[in-house]
Amino acid sequence: MGLEALYFSGAWKVLGPLSSGVGTIFTMHHVRPERPEPFQPNALLEIDPAFLETLIEYLRYKKVDIVSLAEAKRRLREQDYMKRFVCFTLDDGYRDNLEFAWPIFKKHEVPAALFIATSFPEKAGLLWWIALERVVAADDRVEVEMNGVTRVFDCASASAKQNSYERIYWWLRGLSDEKELRRIITGLCERYGVDPLGPCKELCMGWDEIKTMAADPLITIGAHSVNHTMLKKWDEASAKYELAESGAAIDKALGKKPADFAYPVGDHTSAGARDFALAQEAGYELAVTTRPGVIFPEHREHMTALPRVSLNGNFQKIRHVDVLRSGVPFSLPHCFRRLDVA
Ligand SMILES: [Zn+2]
Repeated sequence: MGLEALYFSGAWKVLGPLSSGVGTIFTMHHVRPERPEPFQPNALLEIDPAFLETLIEYLRYKKVDIVSLAEAKRRLREQDYMKRFVCFTLDDGYRDNLEFAWPIFKKHEVPAALFIATSFPEKAGLLWWIALERVVAADDRVEVEMNGVTRVFDCASASAKQNSYERIYWWLRGLSDEKELRRIITGLCERYGVDPLGPCKELCMGWDEIKTMAADPLITIGAHSVNHTMLKKWDEASAKYELAESGAAIDKALGKKPADFAYPVGDHTSAGARDFALAQEAGYELAVTTRPGVIFPEHREHMTALPRVSLNGNFQKIRHVDVLRSGVPFSLPHCFRRLDVA
């Protein structure tokens, strides 16, 4: 659905009240200045600090409450829907969050939640989507064995790299076995001279940096699994481990058990009903997916299956945010269905 078409047709204004719900939880990953490289297949996961600041100023101007996850939980629990709210969440634990986003949050006194995959501050996380980017960037042609057949991908130009990246990436995302995905990425890294742990070592905060941010009352730290695994693709014991152990690691490092969890990747293929139940069993009060949508009063019965709205680096315009907050892009294809929690 074209955000531009929705905006300029005015449809979102007419339909918005039907679907805009009581609040919106925004997802971000990297917050850092735009880079000039032509091949940036993960650019959708980064927004410019200037865009974040403009967005905050705009939300304040529109008198939208920007609240912490704790306050969002209180409002849902007490059915306090007097004013619509917005929460900011940042997944993974990148150092640019500290460098670029935190000063903006402090300047505007905006609360935000960070979801940490706990192998990342240990410098032991496989950020496979960035490792794959580096493999594709490293050579003019990349060979991948897909289902027993060796396929050669043209990576000679930026557009060829983009094309090849997307084909390999979505094939990997479609694998039902995440161990297999990790094995393939590690093999590619070895063959093309890429350090599989390089992205983690270079881009992620250590515990001391997370501790610095956590000391700010504006900042809430939540868990995001240990190994950034797509829980739904693992057996129950592994999913339980990822949920419990990441909470325990944060408790150990920061002296406070996290109350909230974000499912890694977080779409329908990576977190499902079993995982929503396991998150609740593990003691999390709230857990967020990346299933797109806004929050409705009905979500109070599904606090570990909340939708979010991604601030996509490819759509850094305030008018896009207005359309997204209206909820129309998510509800229109589903005939105004409010819940997507199964
Ligand atoms: Zn993540």
